[in-house]
Amino acid sequence: MQDRDSLHQFLFEQFPVRGHIVHLDATWAALLEHRTYPAEIRDTLGEAVAASVLLASTVKFDGLLTLQLQGQGPMHLLLAQCTNTLNVRALARYREDPKTRDLSVLSGEGRLTVTVETDNLSQRYQGIVPLTGERLADCLQGYFEHSEQLPTRLWLYADEHGASGMLLQRLPAGNVDTSSRLSEIDDAWKRVQLLADTLKPAELRTLSDREILHRLFNEDDVRLFDSAPVSFRCKCSHERVESVLQSLGEAEVRSILTERPDVEVQCDFCNRTFNFDAVDVERIFKPGAGEGTGTRH
Ligand SMILES: [Zn+2]
Repeated sequence: MQDRDSLHQFLFEQFPVRGHIVHLDATWAALLEHRTYPAEIRDTLGEAVAASVLLASTVKFDGLLTLQLQGQGPMHLLLAQCTNTLNVRALARYREDPKTRDLSVLSGEGRLTVTVETDNLSQRYQGIVPLTGERLADCLQGYFEHSEQLPTRLWLYADEHGASGMLLQRLPAGNVDTSSRLSEIDDAWKRVQLLADTLKPAELRTLSDREILHRLFNEDDVRLFDSAPVSFRCKCSHERVESVLQSLGEAEVRSILTERPDVEVQCDFCNRTFNFDAVDVERIFKPGAGEGTGTRH
């Protein structure tokens, strides 16, 4: 199959609408290797990872985009992250096995947060909306409507084999001089959304991107750009975990050492384990240690 673990951008030549298609296969398998989820949560997580790549592809930044769902339902937390270099990681936490994929039940009375932050933390943008809708794509549509961004729609699908998504975004029209041209663009925007609604989940998952575009928009002039690879890579490191220990505080960390020979910290995203013995802890809490490091893990 073509176009696996990749992101493709495309552009309608006749009107200001662009799109992106992403497929995660080996990346999705690598992500699931560390954790087993009930199917309902797994598929929601897959959709969220695909969405995080699509959202990251619409913003110009050097850093990290985080899509977060938080609520009171069986799945109380979901995090999906994508860097500007298209490295993804994700996790979900749940209290009980869910009986449904309906997000309003799965996540409960929750909220959806999208955070974009630059690597040096100099810039940060955050948008929060209540979780409304049964599926993540519906909630994200609400997010775009409420955060006064460019009109955007997403189509997402994930199962045990992979996760895929497509995004369409209406761009600013630029110098449109006639109202008839503007209504032409309005009509085109409505029409491409209706066409995209006809795409079946199986088609989104298995067709190549060229086939998807032909299947949906064969009457339009669509330019497909080169694809970019997407991969699973965790951002965790010894340094980052040290800063987490520093934020926990010396007393807390030392109290762990009274019960066991070292402090063990496991990354929730990739299961990598980090160990710190008494010598490490001494070094971490030495006056002046850790200055200038961030607190992100
Ligand atoms: Zn990790």
